[in-house]
Amino acid sequence: MSLHAFFEGEFVPQEEAKIGILTHAFNYGTAVMDGYRGFWNSGRDEMFLFRLRNHFDRFLANCKILRIQVAPTTDDLIGIAVELARRCAVKQDLLFRPLAYKASQSLGVRLHDLADALLISTTDMGPYLPETGVRCRTATWRRIPDISVPARAKITGLYVNNALARAEAAQDGYDEAVMLSENGHVSEAGPANVFIVRKHRVITPPVYDDILEGITRDTVISLARDELELEVVERPIDRSELYVADEAFLCGTANHMTPILEVDRRVVGEGEEGLLTAKLRGLYQEVARCARPDYEHWCTPVLGRP
Ligand code: PMP
Repeated sequence: MSLHAFFEGEFVPQEEAKIGILTHAFNYGTAVMDGYRGFWNSGRDEMFLFRLRNHFDRFLANCKILRIQVAPTTDDLIGIAVELARRCAVKQDLLFRPLAYKASQSLGVRLHDLADALLISTTDMGPYLPETGVRCRTATWRRIPDISVPARAKITGLYVNNALARAEAAQDGYDEAVMLSENGHVSEAGPANVFIVRKHRVITPPVYDDILEGITRDTVISLARDELELEVVERPIDRSELYVADEAFLCGTANHMTPILEVDRRVVGEGEEGLLTAKLRGLYQEVARCARPDYEHWCTPVLGRP
């Protein structure tokens, strides 16, 4: 496999992309990241990059928060992403990681007077969490509030918050952590947004509960409303609502959709993937692989075959 990266304005074999030890972002976490997937569709002999425009729109908006300037437009980034995927030339799913970072070899905490750079790296990482479902614990670490570091910005340094929560969950024998916001509402999991289902209503935390505004979250909301004709509500969720939910699941680019089987040793629903979760997961898989014509506009072809 020839994984490539876009680094310092060029496409290079990934092992050749290296940064210096004084790189500002490496020392202070001053970078914005994103992640999008390329799904291999064997029937069409094509790779499709899922919701690329949405990922890059979010990425550039987040760069603004961190005062990083890497590329003028989303279209420039789309062009780079398509060429990068083409150069990797593999017939399998890939995960791409754009990173806009403070690149100066310069110590001193700040955002100003520093050079910015763009990197897009590639991995063949599969689903991040067990697809059969996860057992979660509520983290003792609170989600960092927007007034301290904005979670919506996907800033690399902020992920220490997620790492602390995930390490705690793993050490206590759980698969994943659910973080509560400072006011005690369910915010999100380590790498993913949270949904519950109660009485056929699909519920997810609102954007003001310190979540990353997930693109998979948006996909799930659309599919639930438009394909399954379910009511979707964005509202604060209490911790104990996780325990009494009929179904619960996590969603994100890295894990796709993952049923939550247990939270804090309380079985959720029947302790297995719920009916609506399974339906949504099936739809998501089809849409992401560009197997449903209504959603082709979300899928950017890499090789450009008709
Ligand atoms: N929350 C967090 C903390 C994440 O890191 C991610 C993954 N990017 C998500 C949610 C899901 O976002 P998306 O669906 O855009 O990948």
